[in-house]
Amino acid sequence: MEASGWDGLLARVIAQARAAGIPISEAIAPQVAVNTRAKTRFGACRSSGGRHQIELSALLEGAGEWAVCQVLAHEILHTCPGCANHGARWQKWAGRMNQVYGYRISRTDSFAALGVEDTRPVRYVLVCQGCGTKIRRMKRSALVEHPERYRCRCGGRLKVYAGQLQTTHLRPQHEKKGE
Ligand SMILES: [Zn+2]
Ligand SMILES: [Zn+2]
Repeated sequence: MEASGWDGLLARVIAQARAAGIPISEAIAPQVAVNTRAKTRFGACRSSGGRHQIELSALLEGAGEWAVCQVLAHEILHTCPGCANHGARWQKWAGRMNQVYGYRISRTDSFAALGVEDTRPVRYVLVCQGCGTKIRRMKRSALVEHPERYRCRCGGRLKVYAGQLQTTHLRPQHEKKGE
């Protein structure tokens, strides 16, 4: 879903929220701002002086329309009174959007939940030897240095690989060229 189509989706989601009786702000900028640096969140709602700017990460350019709408819906709900955080009021409106339109709005979204391929450059990938789950890390950490101290949620052991996320070409961290 190219960013050029996001303004139209914002208008759609705003109309949906209003039709469902959700008190979103009248002062949401009609243009979605594109954030090309955000790597850890998909959207944001920036508010100042009673006006609201919805921002989406460029990561969503590879996402489907429904995923973009879901993130937009999450963000516009932050413009409701008392909804700057993910407290009870925000959750109530999220629940209504989910019920009426079949969204799965939650406090956080993952790449997997949105059907977005994670193409962020990573330096380390930990792969569970049990279930194959991949955990990505940009930096060295205790987990990367000492994977033997940790376990996957399934109980499996973790193995560290280095390199890009295109996981078909994962190489063990200690493998040298020519070996
Ligand atoms: Zn939020
Ligand atoms: Zn596992």
